[in-house]
Amino acid sequence: MHASSVDLSARAGTAPAESRYHRYHIEVQPAEDIVALPSRFRVQVRRHRLAWLILKEIVHYRGRKDVVVSRPCVYGVFSGPVGGFAPREHLCVGCLRCTTQYPEIVQIHRNPERARLGDSYFTPDHVDAVCYEARTGNIPVRGAGYRGSFGGPGWDGMWTDMSEIVRPTRDGIHGREYISTVVDIGEKPPFLEFDETGLPCGLEPRVLSAALPMLLDLPPRSAVMDRLVAVLARTAREVDTLALLPLRIVRERGLRGPEVIPVLAPAEVGALQELAFEPAMAELTAWDEVAYREAVARLPATIIGLRLAFAAGLRDTLGAALEAGVRVFHLTADYQGRGADGRFVLDWIREVHGWLVASGRRDEVTLLGSGGIALAEHVPKAIICGLDAVALDTPILVALQAKMLSECTDPETSRVELPDFEPAWGVQRLKNLLGAWRDQLLEVLGAMGMREVRRLRGETGRAMFQAEAEREAFQGIAGYGDG
Ligand code: SF4
Repeated sequence: MHASSVDLSARAGTAPAESRYHRYHIEVQPAEDIVALPSRFRVQVRRHRLAWLILKEIVHYRGRKDVVVSRPCVYGVFSGPVGGFAPREHLCVGCLRCTTQYPEIVQIHRNPERARLGDSYFTPDHVDAVCYEARTGNIPVRGAGYRGSFGGPGWDGMWTDMSEIVRPTRDGIHGREYISTVVDIGEKPPFLEFDETGLPCGLEPRVLSAALPMLLDLPPRSAVMDRLVAVLARTAREVDTLALLPLRIVRERGLRGPEVIPVLAPAEVGALQELAFEPAMAELTAWDEVAYREAVARLPATIIGLRLAFAAGLRDTLGAALEAGVRVFHLTADYQGRGADGRFVLDWIREVHGWLVASGRRDEVTLLGSGGIALAEHVPKAIICGLDAVALDTPILVALQAKMLSECTDPETSRVELPDFEPAWGVQRLKNLLGAWRDQLLEVLGAMGMREVRRLRGETGRAMFQAEAEREAFQGIAGYGDG
């Protein structure tokens, strides 16, 4: 098909056209934490009772030191140079074997330091998972299985279909079959027109393809710094995705490349002319038809998107922008996934997607979304609800071991403190995070028997929603809905 599409890797110009195909892969390697995470548990040992136990065991096991020091913990918590007198708390997994067998000697407590990680939305467990992924590039697997509840608020009120019946046909992670995570962002006309010579004569698709349905969103104001901006741009380039950055920063730092997406207020449109390159896409932060037309006139080859908050009047604004020609919408909730009316982003996405489907315009537009994405599983859930791709905000900061100094709700007021880090470390941490999240996305797609993430968009038949399931099961039964 003759289409005006942009492949980010191709635009980077790193390979001649004939040898351009390469199987997509994110290079992960260990990138150790530079700030030690507090251990999950505190191991309290009564030392005099331990000394007495050891004496008894030395006699009982006839001096076999390897046996004596490895008990009672197989994880090695008591296997340091002085054993249980200085337990290695970071190794404790909380299995409680020691305290069950020797309650008079050992007690295991949750570490209150750990409860202070993240904030009320990005919980300590979420921080733990993201840091593990950024450190190793691997999927966190807990041998003890899932220990949480099977439903709850936010994304926990949605379950994906991991039907085993189709599983043998798809296997993305282990490479038996390739599953594509490429997404197209841009303008897609509802149909193509051709003239009598067979050449297209009407509107043509104008899209750029990102290798991942995960973009890197604007950092909060308190975290904008040279190092972070450089890390975002370089990571986006190396994994073939997009980095959304304030226009002012793009200009001041002289950033350029197909992966750099300037974000600007309508009043800044005049400054687009001063960019050192023609971006593949730019985003306006509010709807202003005059500014939009000016941006299109100044950068005719650039896809001009519109950033809109999930708030009252969204449909009207979206409809007006759609009529004026906008085809890429970036819908934003706060960092905790709430729209302006307090509704969770899951409901908002479904509403907007459903409205576009009902009006017959859904396939013409691209919906990006950000806010409320804290774990890998939230990405496929957001896509199933109706997004084409998500833009990551707080997970990037957590992967770089930023400390949340307050509740992080929006880019203006959130206070975060990033550690001192080398750009190469930051890039590797983000590549590891994206690699681990992509693998988890492939797991979902593989389990659903899908070959590409584009088909996942709006596939609500592959999901169950807790509120709907409960309504179906319990409506009409006394007591349902009382709470
Ligand atoms: S709780 Fe389990 S992992 Fe922790 S110290 Fe005791 S035996 Fe070891």
